[in-house]
Amino acid sequence: MTGTWDVIVCGGGSAGIPCATFAAKRGAKVLVLEHSDRIGGTLYVSGGQMAAAGTKAQKEKGIEDSPDRHYQEVMRISKGGARADLVRVAVDGAPQTFQWLLDSGFQLTPGHPIVTYGHEPYEVPRTHWGVENGVSVLKALKPGFDAEVAKGNITLRLNTEVQGLIKTVQGGVDGVIVRNADGRREEIKGTNIVLTTGGYASNKQLFPVLSGGYPLFGGLANPQSQGTGITLAMMQGAELWGSDCYMPTFAGITDPRDPTRQVIGTVTTPQFRQPWEIFVGVDGKRFIAEDTPSVDAREHALLSQPDLTFWVVYDEGIRKAAPSFFVDLNFHALDDSGSGKIEGTNIGIMAAFDKIPGFVSAPTLAELAKKTGINSAGLEKTVADYNKGVASGTDSMGRKHLPKPVSEGPYYAVRHHGFAVVSFAGLAVNSKLQVMRPGAQPIPGLYAAGEVLGKSLLSGKSFVGGMSLLPTITFGRLLGSQILQWEGAKRAAAE
Ligand SMILES: Cc1cc2nc3c(=O)[nH]c(=O)nc-3n(C[C@H](O)[C@H](O)[C@H](O)COP(=O)(O)OP(=O)(O)OC[C@H]3O[C@@H](n4cnc5c(N)ncnc54)[C@H](O)[C@@H]3O)c2cc1C
Repeated sequence: MTGTWDVIVCGGGSAGIPCATFAAKRGAKVLVLEHSDRIGGTLYVSGGQMAAAGTKAQKEKGIEDSPDRHYQEVMRISKGGARADLVRVAVDGAPQTFQWLLDSGFQLTPGHPIVTYGHEPYEVPRTHWGVENGVSVLKALKPGFDAEVAKGNITLRLNTEVQGLIKTVQGGVDGVIVRNADGRREEIKGTNIVLTTGGYASNKQLFPVLSGGYPLFGGLANPQSQGTGITLAMMQGAELWGSDCYMPTFAGITDPRDPTRQVIGTVTTPQFRQPWEIFVGVDGKRFIAEDTPSVDAREHALLSQPDLTFWVVYDEGIRKAAPSFFVDLNFHALDDSGSGKIEGTNIGIMAAFDKIPGFVSAPTLAELAKKTGINSAGLEKTVADYNKGVASGTDSMGRKHLPKPVSEGPYYAVRHHGFAVVSFAGLAVNSKLQVMRPGAQPIPGLYAAGEVLGKSLLSGKSFVGGMSLLPTITFGRLLGSQILQWEGAKRAAAE
């Protein structure tokens, strides 16, 4: 049955905006349903790094690159775990999508693209960042979208939550059930229903269910990332992909009042700051050479720690000698004394010790173990072994940067967790982005793009840098400009 709307886009974020814009440009009658009071979704918080090969910015810097090379590197970093056909679509479409962003006013940070180390690095500078991170992307996407709204080609309904999908007798989907801004329930029919509702990395109940049991810690995701699109499609029998692929990001300090949110970052990336501290699990043992250059190796090692938790342990000598380990995100959020912001330096951080859970100091290692719950014998042995390694220059874990022993009280321990930025599991789709039931059966009328497909789709059980946001925009663009079909589109193509 043909519905009222040619395209109903559920969620106005990085995927939904280009999907709606391009479909409207092709003459579709588009409805965008957005739960919050503004479009943009995760773009307000996203780091916004975008990997694209063969861009004008690369050519201007004399960087030789190609989508083929990008493809090879994605498959290398994902250890073959990414979906090859859709990686191909993403990398082939990336330079065109990126150029479209530039043409739409995207402001690239001078000197970009670069090689970054927050994720496993690419072999060539391929990471493009906007001057205002994700917000730069939104600033480029929004004018084109607004223009189609002004022309009446897109109808935008804010504060409207998609709560259900309408199933056809043939087993497809031809509409949605929403709760309107005024609380009314409404059924809306459409030819193409596109799920662009984002991930689930703000849903603490759903997160472990879709992440192999791993808990949600230190989340940075958009609060609207509740996984609704995934849940609704699964109620229609959709297949899930990647629930065994969860990877935490290494590593952060959570808000003790709500461990699902992160408040403080520390520099655990050796390319940015060589470690002076040691990282120990609750058993008191180190689980990785702290200066391991591969972030993928560090993240995989962290998976073995109960609750993705470890303690960063150091002593007074290191505190005095080392460059600052702490990066202030919003530490003032923890300062209940009313005295204002505590600066994110070692000195400022000192105010947190023994006041804020997870910041512990003690005159001896035994007392530190008691206060933190770290196994005491394990911690004493680990520190003794480590100090022996510092003295001999040969660390038992293979660490190379051994500037100082951990030997001078008071001792410090700061609790860290692997934290959640994005959702790894998502809806199974075919190469046309149709949502699939098990047995490679597409659900007629139902499409999906963006984080609702899960990070693992293009990353496997790893983080491939810049391969969430730009592919999300690309998939939205391709849905709107090529894939979705409706009566008018068929007529226009025939003319
Ligand atoms: C802190 C952070 C940093 C990141 N950094 C990077 C990076 O540097 N590079 C990179 O490649 N990726 C990065 N990502 C990931 C990337 O930004 C996201 O995966 C991507 O922006 C998601 O786009 P989306 O359109 O799928 O979802 P979103 O942008 O989240 O949009 C979904 C929209 O759907 C709406 N919605 C949700 N449920 C409903 C409902 N039931 N009804 C109606 N509307 C609904 C939401 O309000 C939202 O507007 C980062 C993510 C985070 C959280």
